[in-house]
Amino acid sequence: MQTDVAIVGAGPAGTFAALFLAKFGVKCKLIDKQKFPRDKICGDGISGWVLTVLNELDKELLAKLSKQDFLVHSHGMRIVAPNSSILDLPFMDDGSFGAGIPPGFICRRIDFDNFMMEEAKRRPEIEVLEETEINEFRRGKSGIVLNSKNRDVRISAKLVIFASGVNSKFMKEPGGILKDKKFTMTGIRAYYKGVSGCHPQNYVELHFLKGLLPGYFWVFPLPGEMANVGVGLDRHRIGKKKINLKKIMLEAIATNPYLKTRFKDAEMIENIKAWQLPLWDGRRKLSGERFLMAGDAASLVDPVTGEGIGHAAITGMLAAKQARRSLEENDFSSAFMSRYDDRLYKKVGKELDISKKILPFIQYERVFNRVINRASGSKVLKEKLILALTDLEERKKLKNPMLYLKIMLGM
Ligand SMILES: Cc1cc2nc3c(=O)[nH]c(=O)nc-3n(C[C@H](O)[C@H](O)[C@H](O)COP(=O)(O)OP(=O)(O)OC[C@H]3O[C@@H](n4cnc5c(N)ncnc54)[C@H](O)[C@@H]3O)c2cc1C
Repeated sequence: MQTDVAIVGAGPAGTFAALFLAKFGVKCKLIDKQKFPRDKICGDGISGWVLTVLNELDKELLAKLSKQDFLVHSHGMRIVAPNSSILDLPFMDDGSFGAGIPPGFICRRIDFDNFMMEEAKRRPEIEVLEETEINEFRRGKSGIVLNSKNRDVRISAKLVIFASGVNSKFMKEPGGILKDKKFTMTGIRAYYKGVSGCHPQNYVELHFLKGLLPGYFWVFPLPGEMANVGVGLDRHRIGKKKINLKKIMLEAIATNPYLKTRFKDAEMIENIKAWQLPLWDGRRKLSGERFLMAGDAASLVDPVTGEGIGHAAITGMLAAKQARRSLEENDFSSAFMSRYDDRLYKKVGKELDISKKILPFIQYERVFNRVINRASGSKVLKEKLILALTDLEERKKLKNPMLYLKIMLGM
């Protein structure tokens, strides 16, 4: 099979890339080893960047998504400190996505990814190949040749977008990305029914537990009184402190004073499952001759919040834009492809750099407790934190040690 663009992986990075290519009139093949609908272990929080990119792709598709009954509209974040102080931060909502469209959704990935996949299947420019695991790539005379595991599919493409997630073998070769335990988080997730006390506006809840910092326990409300409940921490700390995430999660539910009352009548409706999050650990090249790395395969998860779907969407969009340019100019050289890296870092580089720098401050329990205590009683500090969720200049201030010193001293 011949194609201009082949996309390996049909998670958010892959489907966004395919749908943008279709919008530009470029034909592509979208390949996934699984059959959809398929699950992806995740917190299921669909935040700002996803909506922004979807809005650029197709306003009507965003409006259609917002009306689906498989999701809830989420309007904020609840942070619970190790000492149980609570801080509610509403998301800024300037109404820019249109009436009735909130600043965030929470939605099981089996539903969200399938919604995007169904849209891809409707587009004549996209040929979808499911249950096709690509396990070999090699350079041919005029492109890249991909072979499936069973050797029943052979694709020759002018350009390949690798969007095959955190366990992708293509991350290392050709991607050149090596995983570091300090920047790989393990996350576990279970679905519960009947968790009480969730915020009426479906705030995502991050509970920073004693002994788990900078990791956290989360409760993300879903439709039908369901909730996505999980815990995440980097693999370096898990190994060093011999932490059992499953034990921590179940103990917190059974003994944490705030959580145990809320889980009193709750029932786990699916077993706990684990997956990895490849955290951002600095700028590196994410492209090469005839290929681009996207989403988790490019290791772009925010190291503080654990969000990766937004960056998957952005890389999907930018990869499609670069593919269109390469095809127009007939230039697939490494130098030309690196414009993708430049555009990506221009968009999210600063934000990721800041997150990496804030991370060390989150591990100190006393500092954390004090900041949340102060912010819950101070309108000014709370407003600064709300602004920092969306404003980079405000977020930059959070990486300044002096800010924490001032808060500790009550200044
Ligand atoms: C526990 C946990 C909680 C999380 N919570 C959140 C959250 O609340 N919000 C958020 O924004 N992010 C969250 N993330 C991160 C988020 O899940 C990922 O960043 C996101 O899924 C990345 O999308 P992707 O398209 O790059 O990869 P994926 O979604 O992993 O998709 C990759 C696709 O590639 C396919 N594939 C893999 N190998 C091959 C192959 N060889 N051939 C063909 N197909 C292949 C797979 O089947 C899969 O469909 C969480 C992650 C975890 C583990």
